[in-house]
Amino acid sequence: MSVHIPFDNSYVQLGGSFYARVDPTPVASPALIHLNHALAEQLGIDPDGLADYDGVQVLSGNVVPEGAEPLAMAYAGHQFGQFNPQLGDGRAILLGEVVDKNGQRRDIQLKGSGLTKFSRRGDGRAALGPVLREYLVSEFMAAAGVPTTRALAAVTTGEAVYRERALPGAVLTRIASSHIRIGTFQFFAARGEYDSVRQLADYVIARHYPDAKETDNPALSLLTQIIARQAALIPKWLHLGFIHGVMNTDNMSVSGETIDFGPCAFMDGYDPATVFSSIDVDGRYAYGNQSNIAIWNLSRLAEALLPLLAEDKKDAIDMANQALSDFVPLFNHAYEQGMRRKIGLTTEQEDDAALLQDLKSLMRASHADFTLTFRYLDQAKGREQFEDKDAFNAWKTRWTQRLESEGSSPELSQAARNAVNPARIPRNHQIEALIKAAVDHADFQPFRQMHRALEQPFIDNTDFAAYEVPPLPEERVTETFCGT
Ligand code: AMP
Ligand code: MG
Repeated sequence: MSVHIPFDNSYVQLGGSFYARVDPTPVASPALIHLNHALAEQLGIDPDGLADYDGVQVLSGNVVPEGAEPLAMAYAGHQFGQFNPQLGDGRAILLGEVVDKNGQRRDIQLKGSGLTKFSRRGDGRAALGPVLREYLVSEFMAAAGVPTTRALAAVTTGEAVYRERALPGAVLTRIASSHIRIGTFQFFAARGEYDSVRQLADYVIARHYPDAKETDNPALSLLTQIIARQAALIPKWLHLGFIHGVMNTDNMSVSGETIDFGPCAFMDGYDPATVFSSIDVDGRYAYGNQSNIAIWNLSRLAEALLPLLAEDKKDAIDMANQALSDFVPLFNHAYEQGMRRKIGLTTEQEDDAALLQDLKSLMRASHADFTLTFRYLDQAKGREQFEDKDAFNAWKTRWTQRLESEGSSPELSQAARNAVNPARIPRNHQIEALIKAAVDHADFQPFRQMHRALEQPFIDNTDFAAYEVPPLPEERVTETFCGT
């Protein structure tokens, strides 16, 4: 019995300049690693059908399901500040879209599904490790309430891919509210194809920002709203210690979802200069630089949209600058609100910024574990993170007084703090360990166990205590790789 996916495709209707039609390349012997049953149901797809032989044929790209119109999307992008006019889906293929149970349009994309017109020197494939990392991290982000693409399924291909060495191949089925990136706009703007920029803007407005259409200047409203979504997204990363790692303009979704989990990682010990990606030698995408990079990327979007904003170039530039100037206040507000919540404050007072800054300074001096510090701020496990106990105790007295000034206390605020400070995150050393088990021994138990541990990251669970433990010095992972 073949699996039914209720496709309702719209991107394909934009026309051939937006993509290249291409079917996935079949693989030798696909096997299901994991299926996201709840997400399948939300998409209107029978999870049992997907888990069956026929479903796995679809998830591996061996069978193109009825109603799919597979394509590789065209896009450009600034990679580490350098513009590349043609990137595009080099190893991903959009099967099509469905309208989910909430009425939201979602893309179904296979990642690692073979060569496309945009593969350049790549092989169109994905190695197992990055697929497992993206699965876990994107699902954790969703569980933690961060806008993100989702993982519907992961399969192994039964084929090797060659990176530094031969590795098992895999395909991830990714779900996104769309895969349109800042780089998608840049692709057409760089060619001076402003009819296509306009067409894309209209499409994005209809799909993601329908109220922009009702305004005097829909393109300006679109830009303003994309800026607002990014100014809401980046603080959520920072509140979890998340480092995206490759915030190139082609890895920034215009829908405001986190996308493309290449060399991403969560910080263990607090230091805003933390970088994991092996190729980010200058720290361009360091933890503490992510808001600056978001503005830089949004400025590239604004440039691509300029001719749509106003006929007069100077007017257009003024409008773009005005829109971009929203980012910092929006970002600061969301960041500070979230940080206040992390320490249990529900009101705003003048000295809050100093209180938080002083905590961060102490954390930085001790490389305090970011996750444990906030989860256990009033407990021994929190205090243990600090070398200078006197300084931390002094801070704690100020914090307690501040809580009392709003009728709260460390104890009374605990439930609220626990609801925003996860007990467990996908720690990098544990991800590396489960990837090793999967790659070297085809053992997926550690993957499944960590996946379970992260399903409800804010709920204490002694079964998953091992996932709370930061790396020992010898376990610390300091570098991650794109794995492309
Ligand atoms: P990323 O750094 O993963 O966001 O990818 C940047 C660009 O390289 C995108 O156009 C990808 O589609 C392309 N790419 C990455 N890995 C591969 C691969 N193995 N084969 C073909 N294209 C790839
Ligand atoms: Mg990418």
